[in-house]
Amino acid sequence: MSDQPTPMMAQYLAIREANPGALLFYRMGDFYEMFFDDAVAASAALDIALTRRGTHLGEPIPMCGVPVHSAESYLLALIRKGFRVAIAEQMEDPAEARKRGAKSVVARDVVRLVTPGTLTEESLLEARRHNFLASFATVRDDSALAWVDISTGEFRVMPCPLPRLAPELARHAPRELLVTEGARLEDIALEAGAALTELPAGSFDSGAAIRRLGALFNVETLDGFGSFSRAELAAMGAIADYLELTQKGRMPLIRPPVREAMGGAMQIDAATRRNLELTQALSGGREGSLLAAIDRSVTAGGARLLERRISAPSRNLDEIHARQAAVAHLVEDPRLTADLREALGRAPDMDRALSRLALDRGGPRDLAAIRAGLTQGAAIAAMLGDDQIAVLAGAARDLTGHDALIDLLDQALVAEPPLLTRDGGFTAPGHDADLDETRRLRDEGRGVIAGMQADYIAETGVTSLKIKHNNVLGYFIETTATHAEKMLAPPLNARFIHRQTTANQIRFTTVELSELETRILNARDRALEIEREVFARLTRAVLDRAGPVGQAARALAEIDLSAAFADLASGEGWSRPQVDASRAFMIEGGRHPVVERALKRKGETFVANDCALTEGETPAIWLLTGPNMAGKSTFLRQNALIAILAQAGGFVPAARAHIGLVSQLFSRVGAADDLARGRSTFMVEMVETAAILNQADDHALVILDEIGRGTATWDGLSIAWAVMEHLHARNRCRALFATHYHEMTALSARLPGVENATVAVREWEGEVIFMHEVRKGAADRSYGVQVARLAGLPPAVVERAREILHQLESGEDKGAGRPAALLDDLPLFRAAPAPAPVARAQPSAVEARLRDLNPDTITAREALDLVYELSAMLTDSA
Ligand code: ADP
Ligand code: MG
Repeated sequence: MSDQPTPMMAQYLAIREANPGALLFYRMGDFYEMFFDDAVAASAALDIALTRRGTHLGEPIPMCGVPVHSAESYLLALIRKGFRVAIAEQMEDPAEARKRGAKSVVARDVVRLVTPGTLTEESLLEARRHNFLASFATVRDDSALAWVDISTGEFRVMPCPLPRLAPELARHAPRELLVTEGARLEDIALEAGAALTELPAGSFDSGAAIRRLGALFNVETLDGFGSFSRAELAAMGAIADYLELTQKGRMPLIRPPVREAMGGAMQIDAATRRNLELTQALSGGREGSLLAAIDRSVTAGGARLLERRISAPSRNLDEIHARQAAVAHLVEDPRLTADLREALGRAPDMDRALSRLALDRGGPRDLAAIRAGLTQGAAIAAMLGDDQIAVLAGAARDLTGHDALIDLLDQALVAEPPLLTRDGGFTAPGHDADLDETRRLRDEGRGVIAGMQADYIAETGVTSLKIKHNNVLGYFIETTATHAEKMLAPPLNARFIHRQTTANQIRFTTVELSELETRILNARDRALEIEREVFARLTRAVLDRAGPVGQAARALAEIDLSAAFADLASGEGWSRPQVDASRAFMIEGGRHPVVERALKRKGETFVANDCALTEGETPAIWLLTGPNMAGKSTFLRQNALIAILAQAGGFVPAARAHIGLVSQLFSRVGAADDLARGRSTFMVEMVETAAILNQADDHALVILDEIGRGTATWDGLSIAWAVMEHLHARNRCRALFATHYHEMTALSARLPGVENATVAVREWEGEVIFMHEVRKGAADRSYGVQVARLAGLPPAVVERAREILHQLESGEDKGAGRPAALLDDLPLFRAAPAPAPVARAQPSAVEARLRDLNPDTITAREALDLVYELSAMLTDSA
């Protein structure tokens, strides 16, 4: 055997080499095959069998494969595991290749590179989430971030200095981040959960970017979209270049870029997002997050919009007020809201259907989705009538004027078209005269076959004779072997031509039957061809109106979100917050939507609480003390969530709320476990706290929960103390600060604007009862030991803790220095519960006598006298 690779293997290796960094799916008939290292890696990742095929350079070639029809699920598994996949298709019919010679190989080429940020297939995407591809570029001292969702066409860009990158990525949660080679942004990408893709510097060339973007949007100049910095152009250009690379020239439908101002949204960094569990719970899933608790949207587009608004609450008062007005209007008209939601529920995801059509990955159902979406849209516009509320009126406008397209799709498509274009059957009768005629021929043929079967039965007398069809023989006549003899003998054998004998059956054909078959086949092929043309025509008609259709999709999402907020507000008794440019933060009867929901499921009620951080002379910082489990963390977070919901344009879980625009929101919890990154928890805590002290401005809202907990008591207290003073004097922001250091309550007397608050508990027969009620004032004590008992600590430990606490507290009262000195006096721990300390009686007469005496000053004689005296005292008292 020679070492020369086979022609097919040579082709494989050439394609393999041209597509480094990706697994190669090499199409062979009904399978995508993988070879060599790809096969080894993929078989392990997918848990599929690894086999061999032939040899290369004397070694067996490892191979594995996945069926084409179920390839999407394998693709998804691979992408999730961090692979990229290049898909090489057969570019011609194998028959074509055979014509060139027995040994020639079917032409193949990579038609697409599948990466986490460039998915469009419905099965690979989460309907209710965006799938962003981001790109970060630096040109000289200037940096920018661009991001695109090719499944919806959304494309945005903003200036982004390096320190802002992590928080911005946290906001968009892109699946993939493009950077220049050697940019060293692995950690930031990892933190954001994005796959990192390094591109050569040429991809980020800002000059080339102008050309690439011009081609992408088919414009001479980008001036019409706004003016962009070099860095912004570079970031967008890299995206355009990467799309060309991965989509192999078939460009997705991307809307013109929108430039986002840096101060447009409330800034929320990654730690804060995590901590507040905005879109993901700390446990990892969506369940338990704010998003899961408040999402009442009925369309995927509405859900994506909600996620965006929660991730980036607005800082624009006009925008917030306009959105609130729409929600308020719908709250007041529950009938309209219900009708709207009913209609919205029947509107499919037009954004994603549109993007698949543009990429030539669409099918008849995508056309039907556009039809249904626009039809529902028109109905919704009619329901809104000439509504005066700006947001709703604007949406209604975007939903009208699509009648021509709706009519076209309506008369062209059947009611429930099939998924694939391949088998036809989606075109409605009456749309194309040619098609109708061809279909008639085809169907008549089928009718003729039924008649033919009856004729043959009469002719042969074989009643069990049947005309059947399979893919190998086409149409054939079939009888059982016992009846076949007649047909194999004259005169019948002149007409019935034997084709095949199976175990029990004998199969024949006739000249008439094969002629008819040809006619049917021709008609069928012709019908399919016409349907393909119809599909192309309809797709073009849709894409010609891609702009307005996309606009309509966004209008549906906006209405859905307003209605969802309204439904939530009425269902949960939420109210419209007053949002203005002040620094107020006044919440009456505030609740935590996620905790409340969890309690409700257990049949418990949430205790609503007020919070008043007011501008001007009155306090802007609350120092919250109270025992563990009292509800401090819940209170802190609920106020942060209320601010987010208010600026997202929704109502809030409170009886009343007045919020001065929050520019930045910070939330930190002491001693967060971060072992995964191998940093000490205390270090993490301090790094995160430093970020706040360095950044928070006077419109920020800062939530600090037990900062300083990660280190020794006195260190922790000192740090918490100093942080508080800094927030007060330098940042001058609004803040809620929960602490278990009672010592800090003294700060309120020294710092104007700092006020103590506590979460009330009651003690009853030695047990603590949580009232979950936040009040002004400092907690009287911490109740930690009682809480420990509730948690099921062994009684011996609880008792012991009481003793120690008692010792420490009495030390504090006396102002004794180090508590450790007092602890030296404590008897040793015993496994059995320590007996309650016996109340000490008055000193006895003997003791009193001894205490009064100084041994250094008495003589031997006096000592002896004393012994007699004491002895007598003892006998007296006995
Ligand atoms: P802390 O931070 O003071 O230790 P948490 O905020 O973690 O306390 O709250 C402990 C538990 O108390 C929560 O899991 C919740 O079930 C309950 N809780 C907290 N706040 C309230 C409230 N306002 N009403 C009812 N239950 C509450
Ligand atoms: Mg807590």
